[in-house]
Amino acid sequence: MQSELSLLEQIKLEKIWDFPGGIHPSEKKDLSNQAPIANLPVSKRYYVPVKQHIGSVDDIIVSIGDSVLENQPLTSSNLTMTVPVHSPISGKVVAIAPHVSAHPSAQPELTIIIDADSEQVSAPLTPMTNWQDKDKVELTEQLKVMGLSGMGGAGFPTHIKMFPSKPIDLLILNGVECEPYITSDDTLMRYFSKEIVQGAEILQHIVSAKVCIIGIEDNKPDAIKALKAATKDIANIDVRVVPTKYPSGGEKQLIQLLTGLQVPSGGIPADLGIVMQNVGTAYAVKEAIIDGKPLTKRVVTITGETLKSPQNVWAKLGTPTQDLLDFAGHTPEKQQRIIMGGPMMGFSILDASTPVVKTTNCILAPSAKKLPPQGDEQACIRCGLCADACPAELLPQQLQWFAKAKDHDKLSEYNLFDCIECGACAYVCPSQIPLVQYYRTSKAEIREIEQEKIKSEKARVRFEQRQERLEREKQERLAKHKASAEKRAKALEKDTSAKDKIAAALARAKAKKQASTDESNDSVSKSNTTTSSDSTPATKPANAAKDKVAEAIARAKAKKAAKEQQESAEIQADKKAQPVEAETASAESVSTAEQERKAKVAAAIARAKQKREEAKAASQEKTTEPEAKSSQPEAKISEPQAKIEPQIGSEPEEETPLTAEQIRKQKVAAAIAKAKAKKAKSE
Ligand code: SF4
Ligand code: SF4
Repeated sequence: MQSELSLLEQIKLEKIWDFPGGIHPSEKKDLSNQAPIANLPVSKRYYVPVKQHIGSVDDIIVSIGDSVLENQPLTSSNLTMTVPVHSPISGKVVAIAPHVSAHPSAQPELTIIIDADSEQVSAPLTPMTNWQDKDKVELTEQLKVMGLSGMGGAGFPTHIKMFPSKPIDLLILNGVECEPYITSDDTLMRYFSKEIVQGAEILQHIVSAKVCIIGIEDNKPDAIKALKAATKDIANIDVRVVPTKYPSGGEKQLIQLLTGLQVPSGGIPADLGIVMQNVGTAYAVKEAIIDGKPLTKRVVTITGETLKSPQNVWAKLGTPTQDLLDFAGHTPEKQQRIIMGGPMMGFSILDASTPVVKTTNCILAPSAKKLPPQGDEQACIRCGLCADACPAELLPQQLQWFAKAKDHDKLSEYNLFDCIECGACAYVCPSQIPLVQYYRTSKAEIREIEQEKIKSEKARVRFEQRQERLEREKQERLAKHKASAEKRAKALEKDTSAKDKIAAALARAKAKKQASTDESNDSVSKSNTTTSSDSTPATKPANAAKDKVAEAIARAKAKKAAKEQQESAEIQADKKAQPVEAETASAESVSTAEQERKAKVAAAIARAKQKREEAKAASQEKTTEPEAKSSQPEAKISEPQAKIEPQIGSEPEEETPLTAEQIRKQKVAAAIAKAKAKKAKSE
């Protein structure tokens, strides 16, 4: 039941609450917490996984063969949900390849493998002086660049937690370290309490928390003493001691212990105005901000009954497990397990080159007697001990059934994801059922299905967006083509209209010209034949232009006729002296020449007729005349024929003088033309 008091009022009560369930396993902490933290010697080879946190994978920014310095970044940090990894030593990159992971699955993951050199030179560090004056964004970015992720849990990127969705009242530093055997946080608090408090101040500053509480189990008196000393002069940072009970160090359990409040199912501490960080993370925050050092090492407990010197060491990230075991004097036993983590939440490792990562807090090498291998699973006897031990108030027995049946709906209904995998249920199970393994497997399956759903949904959205885009582009193309076609049609229509207009104009002009020509021809023709038809109203020009044209033509004709008349007279006068020359000069006038030609033809025909008559008469006389006379008429007949024929097809070779009648006709024609011209002029 949630309290009616506010969070800060709850805290001021300085009360320690309790949480349901929990167990009290043998602690075994005194094996490793008797000495200060040692420095592990430099290993020959380091295995640095590119992903040591929850979130995305960074880009690798080094290559095989590169020489690297200690603290040099090996990956970039461009993505939000990611942090880079740094080289723990100076040396050379000898491989970038999959390597056994520090994970229960041991699945290989991409790892940068570096051989250490003998110099151990560090890259330049980037400390932030006067961090109190820096704003939250700047400090958080520094935490990200320094590669900080949670060191006490699943490895959530620290900078993400620095931007909670709600205002934060309380910062909790988790120094409980409730799991048996492990003492890394204990020794860190004992020997580096000042640094942890500095980190707490920075974190409190970033999230603007009003209060900071450091929670510690009562089985760590030295750590409690050290931290109380370190915080005695600091307002709003307090140390609270909680009873030893497993799993007090669980995030939700510690919040309940310190505040009496429960984080709702599916919720996060920020929903209550709380942010929690591990004490080891607080130490790393101090190094990242004040010293400018990236996260390349951590305290690791090396403990277990098979070690000569169980202890805590500063281990560089990427150190192979075997080197830690060797340093602590490991003596292998038959059927012995090597566990990364504690006996409750840790996992067995089968490859001794499994590296230390940011979340590795312990390498445990217990005796087979103290921590025997998992026994054969027996049938559930429905004793209910698992439910009594569960700190999350779940029903482990039912969850086990649903997990085996792969009934994911039921698992969700029974809040599988509220399980913190503390192992308390399995610890108490008399049937040795590996309950946590079933839950982990089911969680992985559900996450995979969810990921597939998300991928499918993204693919569907991408497909639909692509289809929409293609359809949109198609419609745009069609619209474009349609617009172009319409534009062309309009242009064509416009062009046709223009052409039609031009054609119409040409037709009109042609018709007009034709009419003018016809009229002109009519006028000329009529003027050559009669004067009476010329004067009829029907043939008069319709407009002044036509009249002018007709007048001009008439004037030209009259002038021409007058000239012809004059020339004709001159020709007649000169005819007797030089008939051929006169004929040649008069031939330049077409109409006069024609008339003359016709006259000549007529005269020639007349002469030919006369000759034929004479020939005929002579022929009749032939019957009485001698033979010598009969040939004479033939010669006379052929003469006129020779004269006539060339006169028809070409110019006459011999000019014949005009008759009186012909001269008269010419004078009449000239008079008519002159009259027409005069008339046209008067009109
Ligand atoms: S503790 Fe084990 S045997 Fe008992 S109910 Fe739970 S699962 Fe079954
Ligand atoms: S492992 Fe899960 S189910 Fe089991 S006790 Fe812990 S929280 Fe409960």
